[in-house]
Amino acid sequence: MNAFVVDIFEFCRLGERREGRIAIADLGRLSKECAGSSSGMLDWALQGGIGMFGRPQLTLSVSASVQLACQRCLAPFVFDIRSESLLILARDEAEADEIEGKLEDEDEVDVIVGSETQDILQLIEDDALLALPLSPKHEVCPGKTALDEVGENKPSPFAALKAIKR
Ligand SMILES: [Zn+2]
Repeated sequence: MNAFVVDIFEFCRLGERREGRIAIADLGRLSKECAGSSSGMLDWALQGGIGMFGRPQLTLSVSASVQLACQRCLAPFVFDIRSESLLILARDEAEADEIEGKLEDEDEVDVIVGSETQDILQLIEDDALLALPLSPKHEVCPGKTALDEVGENKPSPFAALKAIKR
């Protein structure tokens, strides 16, 4: 049996904690989003408990440095995933809807349908994927000319040089 499969409701009821480190290359969906070789490691910690409305809940932390391809210049850059999520567990979709209704606009909290055979690795990978930017970009692309930066950044010495040349 997969060591990452647990009865998540028991996990919460008993207030269990697990943590570990896994190769990004072993997370198929995440490594697909990464540029180049996904050689890094991902650290995670999962804490079960009973929280809001007396519901089972999970606190999940994920951290990793991944390489993403910049959508502007296509060159890879390093993006740090630092995520901490609170997940409230429901028994089924109907219950999940009911809890979501009570939460109103608490964006910090997610409701998921838990399982007695929950693959926690999947939760971890989902969380890492959600932490990725929708359109990854360098703040300033390497090789971008100084002229392009005028107006969006502090004046660069190169811009001054260009001005002199003109
Ligand atoms: Zn770029």
